[in-house]
Amino acid sequence: MAVLGIDLGTTNSLAAYWQDGKVHLISDEHGEVLFPSVVSFIEKEGLVAGYEAKERVLTHRADTVCSFKRFMGTDKLYRLGEKNYTPMELSAMILERIRKNAEYFLSEEIEEAIITVPAYFNDKQRNDTKKAAKIAGLNVERLINEPSAAALAYRMECGERDATLLVFDFGGGTLDLSYVECFDNIIEIVAVAGDNYLGGDDIDRLIAEYFCRENKIQPSIAEYAALVSSAEAAKCRLGQEREVEIVQNVSGKDYRAKLTDDILFEICMPLFTKIKKLFLHILKDAGARISDLTDLVMVGGSSRLGVVQRFLTELLGKRPVVLGETDKVVAMGAGVYAGIRTRKEDIRDMLLTDVCPFTLGVEVWRKNGDENALLPMIERNSTLPMSTHEHLVTVHDYQSEIRVGIYQGEEYYAKDNLFLGEVTIPVYPKPAGQEGVDVYFTYDINGILYVEVVNSQNVREHILLSGQELSLEELARYQQGMKELMLPPILREENQKLLAELEKYYENSVGVKREQIGWFINWFVGGLQSRRLHVVTRTVETAKAQLAAWREREECAEEELFDGELKRQFLEGWEEENSGEWMQEDFKEGEEEE
Ligand code: ADP
Ligand code: MG
Repeated sequence: MAVLGIDLGTTNSLAAYWQDGKVHLISDEHGEVLFPSVVSFIEKEGLVAGYEAKERVLTHRADTVCSFKRFMGTDKLYRLGEKNYTPMELSAMILERIRKNAEYFLSEEIEEAIITVPAYFNDKQRNDTKKAAKIAGLNVERLINEPSAAALAYRMECGERDATLLVFDFGGGTLDLSYVECFDNIIEIVAVAGDNYLGGDDIDRLIAEYFCRENKIQPSIAEYAALVSSAEAAKCRLGQEREVEIVQNVSGKDYRAKLTDDILFEICMPLFTKIKKLFLHILKDAGARISDLTDLVMVGGSSRLGVVQRFLTELLGKRPVVLGETDKVVAMGAGVYAGIRTRKEDIRDMLLTDVCPFTLGVEVWRKNGDENALLPMIERNSTLPMSTHEHLVTVHDYQSEIRVGIYQGEEYYAKDNLFLGEVTIPVYPKPAGQEGVDVYFTYDINGILYVEVVNSQNVREHILLSGQELSLEELARYQQGMKELMLPPILREENQKLLAELEKYYENSVGVKREQIGWFINWFVGGLQSRRLHVVTRTVETAKAQLAAWREREECAEEELFDGELKRQFLEGWEEENSGEWMQEDFKEGEEEE
């Protein structure tokens, strides 16, 4: 059983697996490896995900949602058709499509996956990612940080020499920086920093704003959306062309603006300022200087931009490392890790340490303070697993219990951080400060926090904060919701059944008959892969009728293998020397009919 490595991205998702000492990316029925993280609702039909959905972003804006990963871990609702969906449910749809696709691609069932998440994801965001996987029928033992995956890919590509890396992952919606030390078979993440709201989308909007400033226009919401999309296309073209012109119709009139690397460099200045700050921040956290870095590794689609590479070269004083196509690096790394998980012999076991990306602490009373403060128990960037211990004392005379509030975050006041849970324990009533409890924190590599509180009578209370598991009821409800997700014809269960039945006939036949059934199977699969609905419908009907006839007859001679019209068409084609071309011709004709 294959283990998938999945890069569940804000903009695009990809899946990889490990085989014969190499990582392979999984492509969909049209040969694409980037799977847009977009879901769309089609009136009277249902939901679609991926390319079908992305094609509708502009034409059916109100029925299409993207970039929902930015809101992972929140209860934000997206309306599609008559129903509302959370970012977790939408992610489940993306994962479901990826799983089905991989199962088709690899011809085996997939139950386990490694999923990558931004280093800055908090507990709730990580847990929602796991829940999404569960709804999609995937068992996720471990989430790994996207930059950790990138470091694995770097080692695959550049060899396993010792190195200190700064992984710069600049995607559609997020920027993640990781300071990574690789020595021997250990990859240690020393520090992470990032911004969940900084990515290629922001560049597109900055370009759109520049366009509006240049032309002194104020487009409507729909026009602005179209403009942002043109801005993105222009941005991507800058890789091949020196100068790109953006043309956009606003209120019935065509407006233009030119884009060059120099102009884009200016436009991106506000982003570069933020990036520089994050850069200094992570070096400070890691206690390092720029000269300590062996390499800066560029990851994510936005890292393809010449201006970003130029800015980083200036900042670093040397050229960053570009590992092939930057938007595939994280998935490749996830694939390497999937290989480690399955303990394939051709891959050396690697130890991947992780850090806690945020501070975990307890709420404490501070003299002279009007609000309770957060006492850090496990500080951000601590290497996991990690255990700590603190002694807390009573603050009021004769208080009979102590409540330990557990929070995550970097703010001084407890209430400004994310509340995770609490433990209340009785204490012996004594004057303030004379009685206390011991608090133990253990945070493991899977993001599970175990807190135990012990009082002076050795009474123990504990809480396990592994995020809220899905109840069976919830799981059933969400999976029911998933039924509305329309898979492409080739991945649909009913068509897979037809295919399986055809294959059985193939296995049970010999000679010419077997060969002809083989051709019929090819014809069937080709028909299902067509992007035209009527071709698909006709193919399915034909196959159904054919199978029904075979079932009825049980045994049949070669000459009556196919029935009626199909027999004429099919056998003629079969007899032609180029039967392969005949099949394609048949579909072309079908397409022209429309
Ligand atoms: P994510 O990790 O957020 O899902 P990706 O790593 O796939 O995203 O990056 C998507 C971003 O990369 C988008 O903002 C897209 O516009 C940008 N991008 C993709 N190709 C190019 C390119 N050739 N030049 C510049 N930007 C690109
Ligand atoms: Mg990414």
